[in-house]
Amino acid sequence: MFRHKLYKALGTIPVFFTLGLLIWSLCGYFKFAAPYIFERGTVLGTFWTIMVVGSFTMLLWSYAVCVARNPGNPSLRRNTVFSHGGSTPFIRVASNNPESTIRQRSNSDADSNSDDADDSDSDNETTLTEEQLRQTQLIHTVTVKENGEPRFCLKCNVPKPDRTHHCSACGICVLKMDHHCPWLNNCVGFNTQKAFLLFLAYAVLYTLCIAITILVYYAIHLMYLDITIPLYIEPLFIMMLAGSFSVCLIGFGGFHVYLLLNNITTIESYESNKFRYAQGSSANLFDLGCKRNFQQVFGNSWPHWFVPTRTSLGDGVKYPINFEAYNLTVH
Ligand SMILES: [Zn+2]
Ligand SMILES: [Zn+2]
Repeated sequence: MFRHKLYKALGTIPVFFTLGLLIWSLCGYFKFAAPYIFERGTVLGTFWTIMVVGSFTMLLWSYAVCVARNPGNPSLRRNTVFSHGGSTPFIRVASNNPESTIRQRSNSDADSNSDDADDSDSDNETTLTEEQLRQTQLIHTVTVKENGEPRFCLKCNVPKPDRTHHCSACGICVLKMDHHCPWLNNCVGFNTQKAFLLFLAYAVLYTLCIAITILVYYAIHLMYLDITIPLYIEPLFIMMLAGSFSVCLIGFGGFHVYLLLNNITTIESYESNKFRYAQGSSANLFDLGCKRNFQQVFGNSWPHWFVPTRTSLGDGVKYPINFEAYNLTVH
């Protein structure tokens, strides 16, 4: 517990560093670029200022949500998790043999580590108790461990719903865990995925605006040979930093758009789920098609797509299944 608290406390350093960079770049815009753009035209100046301040505000809002919101923890939904009815006809209880004992080995059982994809801790050899076994039978899951056994987190003492993984940095199980982000000091999970994607989108927009407007500042100087504009080194540095960030963020964001439209998390992209009834198949039964995959994260109401409010569909515990893919893989 102390280790996680220390990790979280140290994790605030990159957060403050990121905030510092953002504020510095915004000051750079108002100090260097804005006065000269306004000199060339009020409309032009107003347009770029709205773009910069607007994207900065949305970026900061999305970032604050990513940092502060609980990414989704099955322990907090214990009552919800354990009271689910079996509405999906083909999903059976987690274990076919309740009397069987389930062994988890730290290194010899690959799944004990692969299940906790972001977890460096190792479980000692442990047998699940009768109560733990009973709990795994009370939630309905379609994914299982490599060996077909139900997924259970011994650190949190909760059965793992589908797509849940234990995060060693946060010290909790995270629903639909994507990855732990040190820049957020938090996990990208069911509750934070939408805000994270918006954060990336607004970060691309903001860094592009900063890079372009400062480029304009230099362009005015060079094109008009306006020697009244002093050439500072600071805006050049901000422009190069913003330009480099925007290129990296476009690449990183593009990858996350691909994952979003295919309904895959980062963890699942390198470690595919083991479906109970599709053993040996690489099909992704959570993939419902681009439109529904997008709506699952962003919701059905388009005005809410642009703000980091909670509009994701579902509860993070149960996920709809693509029956077409299911029928093709299971006979
Ligand atoms: Zn856990
Ligand atoms: Zn985490």
